[in-house]
Amino acid sequence: MPEIVQQNEPVLREIAQEVPLKDIGSPKIQKILKDMKVALASQDDGVAIAAPQIGVPLRIFIVSGAVLDMIKNSEEGGAELIKAKKKKEVPPDLVFINPVITKLSKATEMMEEGCLSVRYLYGKVKRSIKATVTAYDENGKKFERGGSGILAQVFQHETDHLDGTLFIDKAIDVEDLPPPDKK
Ligand code: ZN
Repeated sequence: MPEIVQQNEPVLREIAQEVPLKDIGSPKIQKILKDMKVALASQDDGVAIAAPQIGVPLRIFIVSGAVLDMIKNSEEGGAELIKAKKKKEVPPDLVFINPVITKLSKATEMMEEGCLSVRYLYGKVKRSIKATVTAYDENGKKFERGGSGILAQVFQHETDHLDGTLFIDKAIDVEDLPPPDKK
């Protein structure tokens, strides 16, 4: 199982390197993508993960398909991430290689945030409510994806990881809220 590194690990503070486009199809990069998906799936509350979080200083992040499912279902009301993660049929995880945020809304909101590498702190971070990212997928195809709400928040949180920034650098009202079995 790939290990999710925690906040004092230097790799989380590095500026991650771009993936050479010709390397996207290589076994090395495909293995990293697989390890990231496994690590993300291992966490009930995992929304997304960046490569540095498994110790790899490359510009890659992955958004859980369960989040996309949750966003879709929340339009019909009352969807939860953990429920979405336990469903058999969820959309595939979305891979972002060399992501660049191309648009951020001027409108911002204080959003509740946590991180798989900053257990178990939670706080509020000011984020743009809409964001657009361009990136390459796991096949090396360039794409653009816009998002609002949690998806926009994820885009900003994950690109921060690639620049060595953790949400606690920006958060206010930070609280330590370990789950009952980790107290
Ligand atoms: Zn994080």
